Amino acid sequence: MNAPAAPAGARASDRRSRANAFAARVRRDFPALQQEVGGKPLVYLDNAASTQKPDAVIDAIAHYYRHDHANVHRGMHELARRATEAYEGARRKVARFLGAADPAEVVWTRGTTEAINLVASAWSHTFLGEGDEIVLSTQEHHSNLVPWQLAAARAGARLRYLELDDEGRLLLDRLPELLSPRTRMVALSHVSNALGTVNPVAEIAKQVHAAGALLLVDGAQGAPHLPIDVATLGCDFYAASGHKMCGPTGIGALWGRRELLEQMEPYQGGGEMISVVEREYSTWAEVPHKFEAGTPNVAGAVGMGAAADYLTGIGHAALAEHERTVLEYALDRLAAIDGIRLFGPPAAERCGVVSFLLDHAHAHDVATILDADGVAVRAGHHCAQLVMKHFGVPATSRASFYLYNDTEDVDRLIEGLDRVKAIFG
Ligand code: PLP
Repeated sequence: MNAPAAPAGARASDRRSRANAFAARVRRDFPALQQEVGGKPLVYLDNAASTQKPDAVIDAIAHYYRHDHANVHRGMHELARRATEAYEGARRKVARFLGAADPAEVVWTRGTTEAINLVASAWSHTFLGEGDEIVLSTQEHHSNLVPWQLAAARAGARLRYLELDDEGRLLLDRLPELLSPRTRMVALSHVSNALGTVNPVAEIAKQVHAAGALLLVDGAQGAPHLPIDVATLGCDFYAASGHKMCGPTGIGALWGRRELLEQMEPYQGGGEMISVVEREYSTWAEVPHKFEAGTPNVAGAVGMGAAADYLTGIGHAALAEHERTVLEYALDRLAAIDGIRLFGPPAAERCGVVSFLLDHAHAHDVATILDADGVAVRAGHHCAQLVMKHFGVPATSRASFYLYNDTEDVDRLIEGLDRVKAIFG
């Protein structure tokens, strides 16, 4: 016979205890979290901007530089072979992490921004013409807007926008009317960095393909939190940043369907991306190297590979369960504050990001006062000015959670907000 079900309150408190035990174990892996700020243990809630790094990543980078560094691909000596293997091995790890069967479909970039610029530049060069249309949304980070504005201006193409509802969800029932025979590309985020909204990419991909267009997904906030399988998502391009998923800065990945990458012209010219160079013309290396001109960020790639391994070792199910528990607790506690305005959909539809405003206190003052208490949050437009316009505000404060945060971090945030309220009345 089954044991009688525990009351809901007890179940929630069990989940919180499990989440706190999980975070306590994980935090030991992150040296930067072992410090005090403002005389108190650091509470790091700025993960949507950049995450902290575990020893596994720091050690992988240090090991690479201590033992294996040389330039890749072109050397005939032992260290060049090792560096090349480290670089290409990291590509295989990131390909696995994204669910890509073919590592050649993964192009190293400086991050999500460069990955989107690569497509907006190289793909648009061949496939975007006058009168063509690109569909974006008002939820996008500037990285998924400005490159398309530049591409559209070059080609004489038109930008069309999917709007948001009052809770920051995409108004998907309007997508069919935005998709026309002239739509060539739809570019949307997997997860909003300003609101945490998770978008139903697989459902969107079907509609986009039925209209004969391509789908690029800005995965800067998706890859760190959700299990990514580009085949199941059904998109054509997926962009991610190392530093938002426990890896180093200055490295990211663009996954693209091989036949598309093969049809695209190079984005930059230089060493390593060519097959033959003559006086007047050159021919290109195979993908992905065609898009990797110059000496690449080998140590960054090694670090991103180690980060992918680290997160895989934690397991996406454990990560999701943990983040859900902390997020629900945060939303409950924040919602109980008098004079707070919370932005974004309910917990079930978002990742661990909470944007908010307090009556009478500017978002930046909130962040400054929290910082004095050792609580790191971000304030501003979060590179999502169209989201701010949608809600009619210039800025929000944003707390964003990751695998090392727990409900005590949320308590410290709430205590800090109580202080803000005491100061601003
Ligand atoms: N897209 C989203 C949704 C983001 O949150 C960010 C970074 O905040 C980016 C793109 C840009 O990422 P990066 O600065 O790593 O290129």
